[in-house]
Order: sequence, then structure tokens, then C-alpha cells
Amino acid sequence: MEIDLRSDTVTRPSPAMREAMASALVGDDVYGDDPTVNSLEERVAELFGKEAALFTPTGSLANQLGIRTLVKPGEELLAETQSHIVRAELGAAAVFSGITTRTWPADRGILIAAEPMHVAHPNAGPYLVSTTAIAVENTHNFGGGSIQPLSEIRELRKQSQAVGIAMHLDGARIWNAHVESGVALADYGREFDTVSVCLSKGLGAPIGSLLLSTKARIGEARIWRKRYGAGMRQVGILAAAGHYALDHNIPLLKTDHARAKKMAEIIYKVAPSAINPTTVETNIVGLNLAAFSITAAELSAHCKESGILIGALGPKFARLVTHLDLTDEGIEIAANHIGAELQRTFVA
Ligand SMILES: *Cc1c(COP(=O)(O)O)cnc(C)c1O
Repeated sequence: MEIDLRSDTVTRPSPAMREAMASALVGDDVYGDDPTVNSLEERVAELFGKEAALFTPTGSLANQLGIRTLVKPGEELLAETQSHIVRAELGAAAVFSGITTRTWPADRGILIAAEPMHVAHPNAGPYLVSTTAIAVENTHNFGGGSIQPLSEIRELRKQSQAVGIAMHLDGARIWNAHVESGVALADYGREFDTVSVCLSKGLGAPIGSLLLSTKARIGEARIWRKRYGAGMRQVGILAAAGHYALDHNIPLLKTDHARAKKMAEIIYKVAPSAINPTTVETNIVGLNLAAFSITAAELSAHCKESGILIGALGPKFARLVTHLDLTDEGIEIAANHIGAELQRTFVA
């Protein structure tokens, strides 16, 4: 059996989740008639203390619909240099919404409120681009699953709000941040104008994300979702997977986090420069291969021969992600194997 550590999106719906999907009440969601979609939207909005929510097929779409309600064409969104919105959504903000982006770099993607505020230029007048929103990613994917400190989020909210800049949360893995930090979802939600969350990552649903905001913004986003071609019909069968995930899978994320830490510790023992286990906060382990003669692509290819799948996200950056479909035994096998590869190729 393969041990797939490429992403937490690779999980397959469990038999119980499939049963919930099969028995879901459905209707035409474009007409607002799907009761399972409606109840999921209400449920998730309430969890984050928001007025309304919109079910989307992907987190990218939820992000893009959110930021387009905050930033007008020709205005600017600030995001961290390694953020999903600027690196992994294929320029959607520019292509679909005429939004320009500027970035600020942060160590492991961790927010320090003063840094985006230093870059921000609100109400810039007729000559310079005006900043109208700031995006925060929590947990930070390419930052190695790091959790954003609530104190810095609050400080950024205070400073940005004072100058009329809105905030968007890319909360694809906000569930991971929540179970690990103990911060209530509503306490995260409160600090943002728009929030995106994914059910298809660690929560194990086959598809599904939501955008959360005010009734007015969600109404606007609903129109744009249809305009983009993502008005969906009897998708209560998908929303039912989301309900199932929320009912059962949030506490299980703790196991993913413990397993990621365990992998990091095993690898650290034989290849300490690749990973500092104390930086592994949630379910992502980013390996720095700078001190090894092997590239991330080569490491990934070698692992694949042994049935271990890992992500090569940069020439010298590999990513291991834990999720529901792994076992303790698989984690140990994979970590020992990767550790041995790194030990063998250590150069400096
Ligand atoms: C996965 C992810 C998304 C959304 O991805 P989709 O594949 O479009 O669902 C957004 N932000 C972050 C940080 C992610 O990891």
C-alpha cells in the first residue's frame, strides 16, 4: 500500500461519510432549494460568528469570491509572499477581478502585524495603487502549517481597520489552527470581513469549501459564483459530506498533528538540518534540503520507488502532510525511509 504524504487532500471518503452522502436530502441549490447545502451554510457561518455563507467547490473559488467583494479593479490586496492566494491560484485575482497584489515576506509565513502595515498604502490618491485589503493564511501552508498568533491578527485588525483596510482569512486549514491553539473559531472569524474554509483538506470531505461574511457580501458572492460557472444543483450530497466531516473529524486533526511531529522527530534524529521539530505545529512538515546533495524532486522520486509519496514544492523544499488515511505504522516507515535518504546524501 502506498503511503501518500503529498497532501491532506488525498483522503477518500469513509464508508460512513459515503452513507451520509447517499441519504442526503437534496434540491436545486441555484434556486436555494437544497436543504443540506442551506443547513451547511448556516452551520458554518454560525461557527465563525458570521451572518451568511456560500458553498463553493474549491477553496480557491471561496478565496477569490471573498477578495473580489473587498477589493475593486485596480486596487491592491496584500498577502504574504508564500501565500496560497498569490502562489497557487494561478493569478486568479488579476485575471478575474483586476486585483493587483503586493507581498510581504514572513519567516514560516507567521504574521507580524507591523509588516503588512509597513507595506500598506491606503487611500493612495490618483498616482499610486491603494491598498484595500490584507489576506492572512491560517494555518500557513507553504510556511509549514504554522499557526498565526491571535494577538498579531488582532493587532493587524486594529491598525488596518483604523485606515479603512479590510481583512480576508484564507482559512483552508483554520480547523487545524483551532484544535491546536484552542482559539474558538468565532474568535478567529471576528477579526475578518471575509473568511474561506475548506472541508476537503484535513476534514476529509471529497470536495467543498465555504465563504463566510455579511449577508450583503455573500449575496454579491452568490451572483459571482454563478457568473464564474459554479452555480451547482443537487449538491446536498456533497454538503452532507461536509456535515459528516464537521460532526466527526475535527478532533481527529490532533492525531494528524501528533503524527507530523513524530515524523519530524524521526527525521531530525538523523538529518537535523532538514527540520526543526519544534516548528511543526500542525499537520505539515516542510523539509529544507539545502545541506543535502539531493533535490526535492529526486527525493520524491526515490521515495516513490518505495511506495512513499511526498511533495516537491521547491528545488530544495519537500513537504509531508498528514491526514485521516494514514496509520502510525505508515508514518514510521515513511519517516525512517526519508531520514535514511537524507543521511545518505548529507554533504555539509
Ligand atoms: C488548499 C488550499 C486552498 C484551496 O485550495 P483548492 O484546491 O482550491 O480547494 C486555499 N488556501 C490554502 C492555504 C490551501 O492550502
